[in-house]
Amino acid sequence: MNAHDYIEREEKFGAHNYHPLPVVLDRGEGPFVWDVDGKRYYDFLSAYSAVNQGHCHPKIIKALTDQAQKMTLTSRAFFNSCLGEYEEFVTTYFGYNKVLPMNSGAEADETALKLCRKWAYKKKGIKENQAKIICCEGNFHGRTITIISMSTDPDAKNDFGPFTPGFITIPYNDLPALEKALQDPDVAGFLVEPIQGEAGVFVPDEGYLKKAYDLCHKNNVLFIADEVQTGIARTGKLLACDHEAVRPDILILGKALSGGAMPISAVLADDDIMLTILPGEHGSTFGGNPLAAKVAIAALEVIKDEKLAENAEKLGKVFRDEIKKIDSDMIDIVRGKGLLNAVVIKPKNGKTAWDVCLAMRDCGVLAKPTHDHIIRFAPPLVITEEQILDAVSKIKEAFKMFE
Ligand code: PLP
Repeated sequence: MNAHDYIEREEKFGAHNYHPLPVVLDRGEGPFVWDVDGKRYYDFLSAYSAVNQGHCHPKIIKALTDQAQKMTLTSRAFFNSCLGEYEEFVTTYFGYNKVLPMNSGAEADETALKLCRKWAYKKKGIKENQAKIICCEGNFHGRTITIISMSTDPDAKNDFGPFTPGFITIPYNDLPALEKALQDPDVAGFLVEPIQGEAGVFVPDEGYLKKAYDLCHKNNVLFIADEVQTGIARTGKLLACDHEAVRPDILILGKALSGGAMPISAVLADDDIMLTILPGEHGSTFGGNPLAAKVAIAALEVIKDEKLAENAEKLGKVFRDEIKKIDSDMIDIVRGKGLLNAVVIKPKNGKTAWDVCLAMRDCGVLAKPTHDHIIRFAPPLVITEEQILDAVSKIKEAFKMFE
């Protein structure tokens, strides 16, 4: 089979809910992936930041294969010998009393919303079914009905109604709008991405998160951070909220919690919030399974052992500096933090960000446009300075094609 055959087969038998770049990947190691013809690429998407630790990290794969031969799933109907170890590890690692394990990022976001509502009724004293949660324009928290009820992206939302009520939408990075929305006494939480990843790597003004957190606390409202994409060293700190020394009341993690080996997500909070959910009120067949527990411990150890946050911080600066030096009238804006970056593309002679991504693919770098005119650049955090510079030279070569 050649690349064309693989693509045809997916087109024929799979739902058309994605529009992939035409490249068929077969193998990955560290910052690299290889296609079915054996051509090597730098992976500058990292499975939407799930593969922060690099493809097939040996320590994570060892944890996975060792545990897979012993026991994979018990369900939460019984205790298992791995979950407590993981719960102790992850709560110590991030500094919270409790964790609630789930699988996908969307499920963790849903869990956080439910937890916030429960807290609103049990602790804050909001009247039944009246709790509201503030969210931001341009948000991306996943694809479930409740989550898209918060979305302002027509593609995510159109023809999927009716939607879940109980949300107030305000502009991102707008403190006066938050202050105003917080005046509603039925507000229980503020759900925010510390950097809006899917929207195109929008970095809020310095101080926004801290001030937003303070405003929430002044109004007895929970500050809920969706760090599914920004968390786990991606932006140059363990959490993006760490840049402003903000400790979210509810922390949502996913993606790199497994280093890309399997879907693992988590919600972290302290007892006064987490213990409002009682047995039988929430759960998941796979959440907290022994395999996930062992994989997540290994994945988080790799982050610290290999100082990946420090690497992201340092190489992020190198990357942005080097990209800014590229002399192309298609490059409009370069922005980001750590190794979560984006280039806003100015179309030229009908050529768009999609064409730039095709050209980069031909030069050996894989990235994908988000929202037509923005290209996100987010390589695995194990990438070295030499590799970043090599990748940038390939990106430069791609932009040259449009001169
Ligand atoms: N939250 C954020 C900030 C995300 O970026 C994503 C995925 O891109 C999600 C939630 C949803 O995660 P998942 O696709 O694992 O459901």
